[in-house]
Amino acid sequence: MAAERIECGDYLIERIPITEEQQQLVTEDVYTARIEAARTSDILRFASKSLPKLNGIEHVKRVRRESTDPDNELLVILCQCKMIDREELDTLLRGTEWEESRISVNRVPRYPPYTRDQFEQWKALWPVAYRPPVKLKKLAFSTDEKAYIQMCLSEADELRRQNSNTDNRPVAVVIGNANTRNIVAESTDKTRKTGNPLRHAAMCCIAQVAESEVTRLALKEKSTLQKDNKGDLDGENVHLPLKRTHEECDSEKAESSNDVANYLCEGLDVFSSKEPCVMCTMALVHSRIGRLFFIDESESGGISHYSMHCLKALNHHFTAFKCTRFSTSNSQ
Ligand SMILES: [Zn+2]
Repeated sequence: MAAERIECGDYLIERIPITEEQQQLVTEDVYTARIEAARTSDILRFASKSLPKLNGIEHVKRVRRESTDPDNELLVILCQCKMIDREELDTLLRGTEWEESRISVNRVPRYPPYTRDQFEQWKALWPVAYRPPVKLKKLAFSTDEKAYIQMCLSEADELRRQNSNTDNRPVAVVIGNANTRNIVAESTDKTRKTGNPLRHAAMCCIAQVAESEVTRLALKEKSTLQKDNKGDLDGENVHLPLKRTHEECDSEKAESSNDVANYLCEGLDVFSSKEPCVMCTMALVHSRIGRLFFIDESESGGISHYSMHCLKALNHHFTAFKCTRFSTSNSQ
């Protein structure tokens, strides 16, 4: 499918298609009977009573009209070939009014179409139902949002450029808040500087968000206690609520949906000079980021090689964008 692209200041932003959008046509064999149109409901009743039920191909329409057929006959799907072999089917049909209906094997699309292009292409093989997914919105950014994205990407690029003059790996990450349109964390790669192989730029940024959250919660706790104790609290003894109970989370969520996120980076955007590695991508999934924008692709990246932003097996998905610089002046 054609990639969606949008210009954003110095960058060309391209949304990375999710797995379903890249799905090629895969087919599955079904047994069909050729019958008069008027007998359709009778044969479907027989199939539902006596033949294996269709499994996993609910998007496939049960009946195909042959436009060139002058006798007004239809092809009706009886069951999937993987469920029973032809001999078994013949045995089940023997002695019924459908014994003489011309049975053949037809191919149908195995997966439901996700994009309109897939739908148009796949329905030529066999009619399928199509419901455009809500998630498949057209790529669009407002002027303000474009300025925010450009600011965050430039900042990540500039940090990376500064870091490329040192011994450290030239990678930088910025975390932005799309609501307030400001930067909430930024870091370069610190693996060589600290000797800690886990201190990738994205991991350092997530740690910064965690520290800010601890501080914010401590201040909140302090102000609550001050209210309760009429202001005679010793600040050093503030209890840090690192682990919140479910009740606390629920009540905080109810208090203000903007103020408190249930997960560390919920709704935040990550801007990276390089595509995050598998470890960092998993950390971004766990911390529930909203969107990822990265500039340079990586041979071992979690997005372009493993599609970790949209894996069905993971319980959080985010939108990923590849951002290409228009000018090369800032690149290295
Ligand atoms: Zn990493």
